Amino acid sequence: MPEYDLILRNGSIIDGTGAPAVAGSIGISGGSIAAVGDVSGDATAEIDVAGMVITPGFVDVHAHDDAAVVRDPRVDFKIMQGVTTDVVGNCGAGNAPANDQFRPMYAAGFGAILGGDGEIPWRTTAEYFDAVDAARPACNVAAYVPQGVIRMNVMGSERGRPTDEQMAEMKRLVDDAMQAGAIGMSTGLIYVPGAYTETGELIELAKVVAEYGGIYTSHIRNEGADVMKAVAEAIEIGEKAGCGVQISHHKSAGPGAYGLTKETLPFLAAARARGVDVTIDVYPYIASSSSLAAMYRVGRGAAFEGVEAIVASVKYNKEKYEGRYIRDIAADLDLPIKEAVAKVLQDEENTPSVIMFVMDEADVRRVISDDHCMIGSDGLPTDGKPHPRLYGTMARVLQTYVRDEGLMTLEEGVRKMTSLPARKHRLGDRGELRKGWAADIVVFDPATVADIATYDDPRQYPAGIQYVIVNGEVVVRDGTQTEARPGKMLRRKATGA
Ligand SMILES: [Zn+2]
Repeated sequence: MPEYDLILRNGSIIDGTGAPAVAGSIGISGGSIAAVGDVSGDATAEIDVAGMVITPGFVDVHAHDDAAVVRDPRVDFKIMQGVTTDVVGNCGAGNAPANDQFRPMYAAGFGAILGGDGEIPWRTTAEYFDAVDAARPACNVAAYVPQGVIRMNVMGSERGRPTDEQMAEMKRLVDDAMQAGAIGMSTGLIYVPGAYTETGELIELAKVVAEYGGIYTSHIRNEGADVMKAVAEAIEIGEKAGCGVQISHHKSAGPGAYGLTKETLPFLAAARARGVDVTIDVYPYIASSSSLAAMYRVGRGAAFEGVEAIVASVKYNKEKYEGRYIRDIAADLDLPIKEAVAKVLQDEENTPSVIMFVMDEADVRRVISDDHCMIGSDGLPTDGKPHPRLYGTMARVLQTYVRDEGLMTLEEGVRKMTSLPARKHRLGDRGELRKGWAADIVVFDPATVADIATYDDPRQYPAGIQYVIVNGEVVVRDGTQTEARPGKMLRRKATGA
């Protein structure tokens, strides 16, 4: 019996901690990293990776593939960019738990943007996690329990405070999810019903999460002119509940808010200095993407005034709407922008997703350069023409912000996608190339790695990513995805951190 299943020979090893690259090889055995550095001994297979870097597999901390990992378990759009762990359940949105009240709301809402068909075969969080395992996805999956889903299960889309009974039931469902192995709780406080949820209610739920060592992650209440207040709320929830905090897809959006990250980043640093475990993530683009209906609800269409936006996916009128600028659709319909959006929503039963160019590149650069910022794609696995971040996020960081702009070293860029998110999200033996740790690995050429996906033609895999290994099995070989689907649900342990 050869000592190793696979040896990656003669690469440049970047271990994920930010430490400088060193020349060496990696030996893999039984799904784990068995040797790092000078590897002697024989192997069932060897790959010469001279000229390339070997890094830990990338962790996409902000994914919306909740349904996609079950329905489309090859998740090619993630695997081909080197993502070996996909973190789902973000922005308060998801598909578990699912009682009879939640099911139709899901089909009419979140369902369209999470890569599903509106059907939910499970009822509890534990059953959803089992369904992920049964689907055998190509990458590993970790999940937050989504607060919006919890509230819909208990209160529907009711406004106002929960009764004592409703509060107790929501806590029970969060507890249930944490016991099943959720890594924390997410909120989406611009969406219904997150927007109806007061800070105190969130603190109560976050206390349950804290008991398990989970974290509170939030699409905060305002990413525009009031972003500072919203950041402060997230920090307050973490401090009062006693858990770590993650600010999702951090930005200051809309022309009136450009530059506000100059204030939010020092504010976050000050919170850390007094002991709050608060970190952020970002996607490397100046355009956001979300549900068209949800964005329309913000000020009845005001969000689209003076903003370039593209309808990314629709259900029925593909030729008429899909991939087109809203200003062009409005001109064709001879309607003002707001009314044109309302018409698209009506024609498409509220299902479209939208791309909006709402950020300033200077803010993106500032946020991505922050030492406590990790990378999350926020990709929406929809039909049509999704935001290119679904395919290109990790490659774009390595190409644009590391190689072209030199905002950070390659080692630092890799750290933002590996050890930083793995530690924060309690992923255990992942995120670093260490002997005995899980063999989630990426091999790429730092000179040619490139994001190819565009807004016009988003379904394109990155260039330069040669090998991807998940749990010791090769899922990308010579730049092509294999048939292997070795991923699994990564559950937090029921007790302790
Ligand atoms: Zn979000």
